[in-house]
Amino acid sequence: MKYIFVTGGVMSSVGKGVAAASIGAILQGKGFKVTAIKIDPYVNVDAGTMNPTEHGEVFVLDDGMECDQDMGNYERFLNIDLSGANYMTTGSVYLNVIKKERNLEFKGNCVHVIPDIPLEVIRRIKRAGIKAKADIVIIEVGGTIGDYQNLLFLEAVRLMKQKNPKDVILALVSYIPALGVGGNELKTKPTQHAIRNLNTAGLHPDLVVARAAVPIDGKRKEKLEYMCGMEKGSIISAPDVNTIYEIPLNFEKDHISEMIMKKLELRPKKRDLKEWKRLNRTLKRLKGDVKIGIVGKYFGTGNFILTDAYISVLEAIKHAAYVCHRHPVIEWIDSEEFERHPEHLKNLSEYDGIIIPGGFGKRGVEGKIKAIQYARTHRIPYFGLCYGMQLAVVEFARDVLHLKDAHTTEINSTTSHPVIDILPEQKERLMKKDYGGTMRLGAYPALLASGSIAAHAYGKRKISERHRHRYEVNPDYIERIEKKGGVFSGTSPDKHLMEIFELPRKIHPFFLGTQFHPELKSRPLRPHPLFISFIKASLKK
Ligand code: GLN
Repeated sequence: MKYIFVTGGVMSSVGKGVAAASIGAILQGKGFKVTAIKIDPYVNVDAGTMNPTEHGEVFVLDDGMECDQDMGNYERFLNIDLSGANYMTTGSVYLNVIKKERNLEFKGNCVHVIPDIPLEVIRRIKRAGIKAKADIVIIEVGGTIGDYQNLLFLEAVRLMKQKNPKDVILALVSYIPALGVGGNELKTKPTQHAIRNLNTAGLHPDLVVARAAVPIDGKRKEKLEYMCGMEKGSIISAPDVNTIYEIPLNFEKDHISEMIMKKLELRPKKRDLKEWKRLNRTLKRLKGDVKIGIVGKYFGTGNFILTDAYISVLEAIKHAAYVCHRHPVIEWIDSEEFERHPEHLKNLSEYDGIIIPGGFGKRGVEGKIKAIQYARTHRIPYFGLCYGMQLAVVEFARDVLHLKDAHTTEINSTTSHPVIDILPEQKERLMKKDYGGTMRLGAYPALLASGSIAAHAYGKRKISERHRHRYEVNPDYIERIEKKGGVFSGTSPDKHLMEIFELPRKIHPFFLGTQFHPELKSRPLRPHPLFISFIKASLKK
């Protein structure tokens, strides 16, 4: 098994995760079986407790693991399903070592930070590789070189490299700032320092992915090669791009896979990157726009929320828009605006389709319900994701069943019509699981009703989708809702849990909500069927 570690230099947020995922995609294209691991240096055991406004989206895997959004990048680029074995944090590593010590697994020996922590890291990396039967394991070490927090992980890299120098390489994703009038003077000095910093940890990079606004010119490459003792051809240009899905082919322009093959003494099993080339051709030929509004609460930090807290939703919209050969134009709409100014609801007619994504809590909820009502009664394609589905049921109960105070008990625990509620037997079932919580997490199967929009979109009756929520549709209201034309077109196999709520096509062009998060399973090379269906309906509008 071969290992490629990816670390970041100079500063964070330069796209280390996407770079690691792109390297993986290229190697897949060369015929190798690839898996990916993310190491996060924080002490939290998983990402479930972290605030998405600060940390970005909490991504959920099939097995229910709540993790960093970079795992989403890996799944999207590699088109594979990962598991908790592919993710670790400082907290989870320490927790395991401490548990082992308490179990007397260290047989009375003193347990040390060095080497016991790095050895545990190495064990996990190897375990994930074996589990995936991978030829190549890509491991992203979070944080930036020079951080105190990731030193123990770098020590793991050092140990692995020392033991098997031909099987382990290290890539540094570094930032090259541009100075001068017009910003055309690329400065390599910060990267030189980052490499020196790596050297003090006993490591030297085999590759430098040079992130900059523009491609790195030959002079700068030479300088880095010379100043940092890098092999010729080991500096890979990573200029800004319009979409991240251009990155794998961009890296190949600088022959990254050739360099990796050489260093790891591998030979490509396949030559082309057919699927990525096809996707990139599509990207160049997009015609016209599809304008999607995402209605949610405003988080007060500009567009950050759009790009990070809902990254999977945004990517899923893009994937489906590309299939339809359209430029996705996505706008964030503050739902509280509709509470203060209901007259602004008519602005929703500007959009081809409307999405209400997952969410928690009270703020902006009434505005979201108003927006759903507007979309339903004005026949604007509507797609509700988790909270967006629950609130669609609330809206339907209020407006169509005339249950004026219908609500989810998440917001109103004393409502006389708790159409969305915590189901006692569901709570019990979840408490029995290891998570120790009441959140339904990870992949669950669902059955689709024949003739429904959902069944038509998927083209099959049995599906599996990922969940992250506590509340469910209250079974006491199902009959009443269905009598008035609402359709629960997807349910758990035992029919107890409602998974999809929709209105028939003859009533509305596309009105559908899912209790699960379809966005977590959408990939550029395999866009999600419900998103495709929603975008197609939006284009008809
Ligand atoms: N807040 C809702 C629940 O807990 C929805 C969660 C979500 O949208 N992810 O059930």
